[in-house]
Amino acid sequence: VDSRYFDYAATTPVDPRVLREMLPFFGEAYGNADSLHAWGARARQAVELARERVAGLIGADDPAQIVFTSGATEANNWVLAAEGGGAIGPFEHASVLEPGIRFGYRVMENSGLDLRLPEPAGLASVMSVNNEIGARWDVRQFRGVASKLHADLAQEVGKLPVEVADLDYATLSAHKFYGPKGVGCLFAAEGPPPPIVFGGDHEHGFRAGTLNVPGIVGMGAAAAVAADEMRSDLEAAMEHREIVLEGLKPLSDWQVNGGENASPFILSLSFSGVEGETLVVELDRAGFGVSSGAACSSRSTEPSHVLRALGLPDAWLRGTIRISFGRKNDKAAARGLAKSLTTSVEKLRTMT
Ligand code: PMP
Repeated sequence: VDSRYFDYAATTPVDPRVLREMLPFFGEAYGNADSLHAWGARARQAVELARERVAGLIGADDPAQIVFTSGATEANNWVLAAEGGGAIGPFEHASVLEPGIRFGYRVMENSGLDLRLPEPAGLASVMSVNNEIGARWDVRQFRGVASKLHADLAQEVGKLPVEVADLDYATLSAHKFYGPKGVGCLFAAEGPPPPIVFGGDHEHGFRAGTLNVPGIVGMGAAAAVAADEMRSDLEAAMEHREIVLEGLKPLSDWQVNGGENASPFILSLSFSGVEGETLVVELDRAGFGVSSGAACSSRSTEPSHVLRALGLPDAWLRGTIRISFGRKNDKAAARGLAKSLTTSVEKLRTMT
């Protein structure tokens, strides 16, 4: 039934190869990475290997540009807290949007997926792949207008080739690419900004708190696996996406959100005359895991700020679901999903 999980944008399972590398660090290799003895050294070496692997995956010149955090949320908060202000995209994840608003960043204007930043700004923060609709942007379009550039790469790293060398900041999350939850990192081209978590000299004083060694090891292992498998993962996602779209052809009144250039891993669909949440529940009954939007806001029945910013009419807004693809899907599951989705939409439409 794992093939029927289509919610990889919410989170991914830990790859068995990743888990295998992590396990010793829960067991016999339990040292604190900051301890001076042999136990500490073993943990420290594993952390430094992970730093190199993550740096390698994103094209960072120097592993010292990477600081491990508790996830992309913390890393995003850090960037926005450290920079004095600027502008953020209207489609950003809550972990950019909320600190951004709190710290006085402007929200960029948009028309559809086009972002506008007419006046000079300090930091421009724009995600590379949107977690709800898969739309893609390149924050480098604001080079010259903004003095610094940040990209939230949480939905792109490990899935599409990434190059951070000419960005000031990038933020990553391990659990989006088959690593463990609760670990991520900040890439900072000029070295880490002043800390926001105080209370210890860990990570050279830039991020206090005992290092999550198993988690960091897992992030590094996931980066190494992703480097090898990105291409085949991408091909599979594209194929499964096509199967779903093909299977939906008999249905009327639906659309794909996210634009021509959307990430093949995220398929946002809107169906008129149905509620997205109801569809998610119907599909769950049929054994398929999809989502009505971002998992972090799935308890809210309000349409998300992303769908609102897209300017979708109300009738479409509410009938939106997100299908996101990953390693355990197969063609049969993709065909089955399209079939169940078609049946559910038709059934729900006759009921209203
Ligand atoms: N940014 C984006 C685009 C995301 O999709 C997510 C995860 N939903 C995050 C940030 C937060 O990452 P984490 O779970 O590591 O805090």
